[in-house]
Amino acid sequence: MDLAALIRDIPDFPEPGVVFKDITPVLADQEAFAALIQSLAEPHRDLGIDKVAGIEARGFTLAAPVACELAAGFIPLRKPGKLPWKTMSQPYSLEYGHDALEMHTDAIVEGESVLIIDDVIATGGTAAAAVNLIERAGAKVAGVTVFIELAFLHGRAAIEGVPFHALLRFD
Ligand code: AMP
Repeated sequence: MDLAALIRDIPDFPEPGVVFKDITPVLADQEAFAALIQSLAEPHRDLGIDKVAGIEARGFTLAAPVACELAAGFIPLRKPGKLPWKTMSQPYSLEYGHDALEMHTDAIVEGESVLIIDDVIATGGTAAAAVNLIERAGAKVAGVTVFIELAFLHGRAAIEGVPFHALLRFD
């Protein structure tokens, strides 16, 4: 199935110079969405994944169904101030300024194996923050898996040593 054909490029969104990879046409197509979830889950079957962590917000749409597919739990990694219970936080740098990811302190049991999922990896800052957060909680990061890798931004280098999968790579 040609998932790439369903990705919509939006130039200059959310700011000038960025070409936003809009995956909503993939999500809206039942066959494409199902094929995408199967492909994201495939390399991780029978690896004993305990939890799948999704990065706010588009990561949630992929991580939750992959968690069901792998018979694992789902954890949301959220922007600051969104989670209602006790949180731990991991700050990270953006091109201009900084941001953070937060996770509930009881989301993970020490020693669990956690797969991180997001829609896009660009510079890798967000994925690296997710890896740090989960490792600080005492879990093992089984891997980072994304739908789309913007390879020209070298995000992979930010998570060196962590098993990485991308379904589509744009050079
Ligand atoms: P980065 O931390 O630079 O790897 O950015 C990754 C995060 O920003 C992910 O959560 C993506 O959803 C989002 N993102 C960055 N660049 C794009 C893009 N060109 N199209 C869609 N989402 C993007």
